[in-house]
Amino acid sequence: MTKSDEEEELAPERCQHIQFLDCDKPVGRVVFECWHCQQGIICEYTGEPVMGEYFGRPSLIQVKIQCPNCEQTAIRLTTGEVLKGNSDSFSLAAMMAHSLFKSD
Ligand SMILES: [Zn+2]
Repeated sequence: MTKSDEEEELAPERCQHIQFLDCDKPVGRVVFECWHCQQGIICEYTGEPVMGEYFGRPSLIQVKIQCPNCEQTAIRLTTGEVLKGNSDSFSLAAMMAHSLFKSD
């Protein structure tokens, strides 16, 4: 089995927890689990989704967010500009992700 440098397309069937917070504020937050390692991640974002081109077709630009834990693409968001979180918000995100997604 060879590991390619090309990123695999994310399979649409797979479920990924994601929660948008502060949608009504200039800077919103999104809490999600890494696609690959389920690490809780929080990111701040601002602005509206940007329309661009994807394989020659008009499409919303997807912003890739790298997981600080496993360094793979944790998620792709169709938001505006993504403001990187820091390591403090990182552990916060893990807690938030836990309470948001794991509580029942
Ligand atoms: Zn990860």
